[in-house]
Amino acid sequence: NKQVVLKNYATGFVKDSDFIIKTDSTMSLKVPESSSKGVLVKNFYLSCDPYLSFLLQKSDSSLEAQFSRFSLGSTINGFGVAKVVDSRHPKFEKGDLVWGITGWEEYSLIAEPDSLFKIEHTDVPLSHYTGLLGMPGLTAYGGLFEVCNPKKGEKVFVSAASGAVGQLVGQFAKLTGCHVVGSAGSREKCTHGSVLQNGHVLLSFHVWPLASFSVEIAFSISSITQDPVDLLKNKLGFDDAFNYKEEQGLDAALKRYFPEGIDIYFENVGGKMLDAVLLNMRMHGRIAVCGLISQYNLEKPEGLYNVASILFKRLRVEGFAVFDYLHLYPKFLDLVLPQIRAKKITYVEDIAEGLENGPAALVGLFSGRNVGKQVVLVARE
Ligand code: NDP
Repeated sequence: NKQVVLKNYATGFVKDSDFIIKTDSTMSLKVPESSSKGVLVKNFYLSCDPYLSFLLQKSDSSLEAQFSRFSLGSTINGFGVAKVVDSRHPKFEKGDLVWGITGWEEYSLIAEPDSLFKIEHTDVPLSHYTGLLGMPGLTAYGGLFEVCNPKKGEKVFVSAASGAVGQLVGQFAKLTGCHVVGSAGSREKCTHGSVLQNGHVLLSFHVWPLASFSVEIAFSISSITQDPVDLLKNKLGFDDAFNYKEEQGLDAALKRYFPEGIDIYFENVGGKMLDAVLLNMRMHGRIAVCGLISQYNLEKPEGLYNVASILFKRLRVEGFAVFDYLHLYPKFLDLVLPQIRAKKITYVEDIAEGLENGPAALVGLFSGRNVGKQVVLVARE
C-alpha cells in the first residue's frame, strides 16, 4: 500500500520535501473483525485543497478547533473518491462508490465512515466528486447563494476565479443573470488558446445557451497550456477577466472592470486584493469570505487599510465554512446535476497522475500552478 506520509512539519510554504512516499506491505485488504463499522476503500482520486496547508504546520492555527493536524510519520488525509472493497458498516457494501475523507494512499481503512457520501450518480466523471460535485462545489453554492443572495443584473467579482471553487461561483452567478468578472494569475501558464500537449485530453462541451467550447483536462502538472483569462472568458463564460499579476494597480483594474462598483465579492485570496475590492464595493454590497490563500503561508498577515469602506458603504462581510452547508448537499445536487447534464455547467480539472505526484500537486496550489481543480489520480476506476 503506497502512502504519502508527512516527513517534516511545513514552515511557511509547504514543500515537496515535507513528504515522503512509503510502502506498507503488511496491509490486509479486509476490515479487521475488531472493527464494528469500518470500511476498506480503494482510492481513485484525491483532492488537493488549500486547507491542507494548515494541517501540515506545527504552529497553532485557528483551524485546529475544526480539523486535527497531521502528526509526523502519519499518512496525509483529505477529500477523495474511492470504491468500497470490504465493509463492516451497515450503510456501505463492497462495490459502493463513495466520496469524503480518505487517506493519501492506495487503500484506506476508514474506522468511522459516517462522513462518507455514497455516490449515486455515475453518469458524470467520478473525479468531479473531488470538486464540482464535492466539497468545492458545495462551497461555491453555499457561499454564493446563502451568503451573497445574488440577484439578476448584479455585478459580481470572483478572485482565484479559475480554481476549484472560483470557476463554479462564476458559473452559478452567470446562471443567476449576474455580470461576472474574475481574476486569475500565473502568466507563466499562459499560452493563448488551447494547445493540446502530451497527456492532455480535449473534451468538447456545449456551454451556455449559445456557445460551444472545448475543455482541456491536463494530465500533467508540469505542462500547463491555458491562459486563465482565455479560460475564464471563452471557456467558463465569465463576462470579463484579468490577470492580477499583470496589473499596475488592483484598484485601477477594478475601476476599469467595475466602473459602477461591485455588488458581490466572492473572496478567495485576501490581502491586497481584498483591500482594493473594499474601495470598489457599492453601497450595501456583500462579501463572502471563503478563503484567504494569499495569507495562509505568511508569518505575519498583510494589513488592510480600507476597512472604513465596510462602515461607510454598509457592507455585509461574512465568513463561512462549507461544513455550515452540508445539509444543503441534496438541494445542491438537484440544482447542478441537471445543469451538468444539459452542458450548462462545465468543470476544468488539472489531474496529476500517480500518488507520488500528490505532494507536488498540493504545493502547486500556492504558486497557482494548477489550472482548474487540482486532482491526484491514484488508480483508474
Ligand atoms: P484553487 O483551485 O483556486 O487553487 C488555489 C489558487 O489560489 C491558485 O491556483 C492560485 O490561482 C491562487 N493563489 C495561490 N496563491 C495566491 C496568492 N498568494 N495570491 C493570490 N492568489 C493565489 O483553490 P480552491 O478553489 O480549492 O480554494 C479557493 C479558496 O477557497 C482558498 O482560499 C480556500 O482556502 C478556500 N476554501 C474555503 C472553503 C470554506 O469552507 N470556506 C472550502 C474550500 C476552499 P491564481 O493562478 O489565480 O493565482
